[in-house]
Amino acid sequence: MKNSLLKHHSRRLVAVCCLILAVVVGCTEGRSWLHEIPRKLELAPTLSIGTRSRPLELLPPILVEEHVPVVEVSPQPQTMVEKLRCLEGNWLEVGRSVANRPLEAMLIGRGVNRVLFIGGIHGDEPEGLAITEWFTEELRANSELTQQVTVLIVRNLNPDGTSSGRRMNQNGVDLNRNFPAKNWDPVVKTARFNPGKKPMSEPETQVAVQIIHEFKPVRVLVMHATTGRPMNNYDGPGKALAQSLSRFNKYMVSDSIGYPTPGSLGSWVGNDLDTPIITLELPRKISPENAWNANKLALIEMLKFEEAQPGERELP
Ligand SMILES: [Zn+2]
Repeated sequence: MKNSLLKHHSRRLVAVCCLILAVVVGCTEGRSWLHEIPRKLELAPTLSIGTRSRPLELLPPILVEEHVPVVEVSPQPQTMVEKLRCLEGNWLEVGRSVANRPLEAMLIGRGVNRVLFIGGIHGDEPEGLAITEWFTEELRANSELTQQVTVLIVRNLNPDGTSSGRRMNQNGVDLNRNFPAKNWDPVVKTARFNPGKKPMSEPETQVAVQIIHEFKPVRVLVMHATTGRPMNNYDGPGKALAQSLSRFNKYMVSDSIGYPTPGSLGSWVGNDLDTPIITLELPRKISPENAWNANKLALIEMLKFEEAQPGERELP
């Protein structure tokens, strides 16, 4: 009995080691980008073994020291989403802001439905950033949530604005007027809504657009905050999704925030790409705890929402 148990465990150990090797080699072979990762990474929490009939088991984390090359490799083109896939469950720098702050993203889950979550885009609306951290921890801790879905989280699209407490980025551009939407408008009505010199003139917008082109989300949620009524604002075919979220966070559902938003992320994704997008307007100055309690189930609903969406397909 003892022997067979030992045998069983050693077989499992070998299987686990092989799996780790396969994943690490598969994600690093022929690629040099891992050299650039500037922080400690916990690679293993996302590795797992098991089958459908048998629950997955998480492995203990393996720490990779700062700036230590993972493997010597020759350079090869690789998409941002593929890099995120290789480091599933970890923040990865996917670009830099105007003032050279890192723009970070994380991919979690292996499900066919691809959901994009953006923690913040206006620097004077930090309320969504705390929720983003809590939501990420929830996803990492609860693998059941990501069985049917792959979530790509952009931690904060405007770290320069957050640092200065300003709506705009370091160039004074409102990133949420800088997307390549058909309704982009070059007129600067007020400094707060400066759309930039042209669509995608800003590096932060470029990163978001690249992520959306590569990831091809079936739905998108972006966090904002308002001094007006909190709402699940939707663009494009997002009404049913907004109504579904409203069952949990009780915020009003509307396709307008009360004024035109040319060049906004909502205009581009919702109207031009025909993809459901929610601009979730939290109450300004709400505490992180209250914001999380009010929205946790709504965010989970965002993952589970079951209306058939066109264009769903496997990740590249
Ligand atoms: Zn906003």
